[in-house]
Amino acid sequence: MTHEKTLTPVQKYKQSKKGREAARKYYRANKEKLRALGNAWYADNKEKVKQQYEENKSSRIAKVKARREARLVLGLCSNCNVPQTSYSNCYCEKHYFEQRSCSVLGSNKHAQVLKTMFYSNPKCPYTHELLILGSNAVLDHKLPKSRYAHLKHDISNVHWVSEVGNRAKGKMNHVEFTLYLKEWQERINGL
Ligand SMILES: [Zn+2]
Repeated sequence: MTHEKTLTPVQKYKQSKKGREAARKYYRANKEKLRALGNAWYADNKEKVKQQYEENKSSRIAKVKARREARLVLGLCSNCNVPQTSYSNCYCEKHYFEQRSCSVLGSNKHAQVLKTMFYSNPKCPYTHELLILGSNAVLDHKLPKSRYAHLKHDISNVHWVSEVGNRAKGKMNHVEFTLYLKEWQERINGL
């Protein structure tokens, strides 16, 4: 550790276990006071903080990007240091479902529900195919968001289907498409 040589005794103490404990103790004892001081400082320096934030933006983004890329090369999740799951070349299991939740439901808060939903019945309700994550499994809006915009972020309006089923359903809603499939099945049976 070459940087240790350049630390002053005070800096060394601050970084030591004892120093950190003392800081935590002091913070706990003076929480309200320190918060008020912090808020007052921020009110006085708001513009400066904003300016610095903007100035450092591109270098921050570049750092995050470099860290992500380094993780990906090592076979780790791009968001954390957990290995990628077998069905994603980008994410660990947790972040895979969070990413699905984000892109389909606008936030990552439904990740756990989506995961439970998948594992409780990994079968397409339309084509009856076995669903495989990272392959044919996609999330479908039962009532398509193109026609029911107010339900596009509603977790009860999504389910796991196969890519083929999803494409064939198009802009039909769940009931329409189920009827459509039933009609075709009857026609085929009548042949
Ligand atoms: Zn992760």
